[in-house]
Amino acid sequence: MPPKIDLHTHSSASDGTDSPAEVVAAAAVAGLDIVALTDHESADGWGAAGKAAADLGLGFVPGIELSTKLRGASIHMLGYLVDPTHPALAEQMREVRDARLIRARRMIEALSVDYDITVEDVDAQIHDGATVGRPHIADALVAKGIVPDRSTAFYDILHPRSPYYVSTFAPSPLAVVVTVRAAGGVPVLAHPATQGRYRVIEDDAIKELVDAGLFGLEIHHRDNTEDGKIRLYELAAKFGLQVTGASDYHGEGKPNRLGENTTSPEVLERLIAAGSGSRPFRG
Ligand code: AMP
Ligand code: ZN
Ligand code: FE
Ligand code: FE
Repeated sequence: MPPKIDLHTHSSASDGTDSPAEVVAAAAVAGLDIVALTDHESADGWGAAGKAAADLGLGFVPGIELSTKLRGASIHMLGYLVDPTHPALAEQMREVRDARLIRARRMIEALSVDYDITVEDVDAQIHDGATVGRPHIADALVAKGIVPDRSTAFYDILHPRSPYYVSTFAPSPLAVVVTVRAAGGVPVLAHPATQGRYRVIEDDAIKELVDAGLFGLEIHHRDNTEDGKIRLYELAAKFGLQVTGASDYHGEGKPNRLGENTTSPEVLERLIAAGSGSRPFRG
């Protein structure tokens, strides 16, 4: 049997509910052979996740997920095997993390007019040093009994069309591809055909990213629409992009299950050959 590989997961170093070691332990239980940890703007979980992988005999691929924006639309970029201490990447991540914090404060301020929620309530949901996002606000709303779970919060009061929503700064996808490559990493567009929130990016924009070193498209992801996947396959063929798949596991806060989508061993081999900023652990 070929190894089962899941290249997109989140831990408490960003907005997942499991610790980095728990993500890897859950990956072993789910029957995965290789797992990547890709927290938003953070490599803080790599050490603990890598150690857990070594202990459990799993392979581990270090990664990050970076927020970007193109003409107001939110686009996520996965960066595998980066050197997170590379100055340009570290600076880019710091800017986005700082902006996320201010944005969370502004959303809490707006919410507090109508709901019993404070900055302290949200802080209580954030693991030390974690990258802050709407999931932490959602968890505070759940703890306060205002919504039953994270997903309900996302469909309603934290939705981009909600009056409480505040957008946040993110660099362009092109700037992020350039930085990821400069940091020795391998950039892959995350869930590029998500309904509503993301448009499938136009050919010209993709070509620009390819010329800057884009490696692949995360086509096998539950948030990509079926029509979107067809279009993404056309783009992959046209531009010679690799195709990945992954769960985008966030622990208990999201229905996504580890291993529900996977990446082929051949694509992972090419990805590893293309990256030099940090080393994978082969298990
Ligand atoms: P933000 O980055 O602050 O705009 O928040 C969006 C993030 O929340 C994305 O990374 C989602 O994957 C994550 N998220 C976690 N749990 C959920 C959920 N139950 N529904 C929707 N998004 C979620
Ligand atoms: Zn997330
Ligand atoms: Fe994402
Ligand atoms: Fe993600």
